[in-house]
Amino acid sequence: MIRPNWTTIIQLINTETSTWDRDLVYYLVDESTADRIFAIPISGSGQKDRLVWKHEGSGEYSVKSGYRALNTDYLRDSTYRSSFGEDYKVFYNTLWSLNILGKIKIHISTLVNNLVPHFGNLARRTFCAAVSCPLCKEELEDSDHLLWYCSILQRVWALLTVQIPSFEDSVGHILRFVKMFSAADEQQKQIIVISIWSLWFHRNKLVHEGANFSMQEMLGFIRGYVHNICLNFMSLCSSPRPLIKEIWRPPDPGVIKLNFDASFLKEEKLAVTAVLARNFTGKIVGAETYLFNDVTDAFVAEARACKRALIFASRMYFRRLVVEGDSLTEISYLAVTRLINEAAYTLALEGRRRNIYGDWLTGVPESVQLAALQDRLAWDRRS
Ligand SMILES: [Zn+2]
Repeated sequence: MIRPNWTTIIQLINTETSTWDRDLVYYLVDESTADRIFAIPISGSGQKDRLVWKHEGSGEYSVKSGYRALNTDYLRDSTYRSSFGEDYKVFYNTLWSLNILGKIKIHISTLVNNLVPHFGNLARRTFCAAVSCPLCKEELEDSDHLLWYCSILQRVWALLTVQIPSFEDSVGHILRFVKMFSAADEQQKQIIVISIWSLWFHRNKLVHEGANFSMQEMLGFIRGYVHNICLNFMSLCSSPRPLIKEIWRPPDPGVIKLNFDASFLKEEKLAVTAVLARNFTGKIVGAETYLFNDVTDAFVAEARACKRALIFASRMYFRRLVVEGDSLTEISYLAVTRLINEAAYTLALEGRRRNIYGDWLTGVPESVQLAALQDRLAWDRRS
């Protein structure tokens, strides 16, 4: 039997129909991999391949963008998928939602993923001989040490009465840290991450500037920081903020506004996307729903909806347009809240319910009309 070399993607594609060769893909890989492959849309336009950097809308790579991607999204996602499981998911969710500076969150996340340039990591890359922690001088400086073991950190936690749960010996230090953090209340969480960040801050001051380390100073620094957060929080709560109700805003005359949305059915791997086009009076001038198969997650569903919106716009010869969707992920368009996007959302649901995919040439259902009318009335009534 002659086995061809599977070296290029084109071998998995029926070029005539621009579809995946499903039998062949199932033959080569397991089912879940196959599903992920089928979820990749194939371009029908026959464009040449080019390298793109997916973290930027422009597709251009820059060191800055790479650094940001490494520090945030990629690490979050890859750690989710890794064997650490649920503990880490909870940890990251609470870390990112904590009311604290982004740079501190990034430092913690980088440390948990062992990507901080401490002496242990530098030694591994032979930039220096392994060196002990400059603060306590007791152990090799590595992520375990900076997150947990450093006696200075432990003393800080004891002095600031951070609750440390008891762990079985088998639990690793990073997991201990993750569990302790997740179990702590909001203020303890702040103290924990600020103390770790401040340990690294004072360590750098010592290493790079030769600044003397003082325990008192570090404690003052952490206390001051937590105090400031409280003050900011209180002033936010006490100052009466004008309540601005968000409403859908019609486009300027001559411009068409497209609202899009996707309804994602996880089990069936289906996504129904909807695009609703309205003019400056709020009148519906076009509507489309579209059914996608092999969609793996809600993010992909939203991206597909966004793409449909643009294809729809070019098909309808809308030359001047604004596009709005409500996905919170990083697709480059104007993100709005679900409230504003109600009409497109309703259209996606109606398309799904009635199994109608395509242009709604004879008009949209009453529920969508109603949502659009409400948008218009809200705009007229705005004060
Ligand atoms: Zn130390």
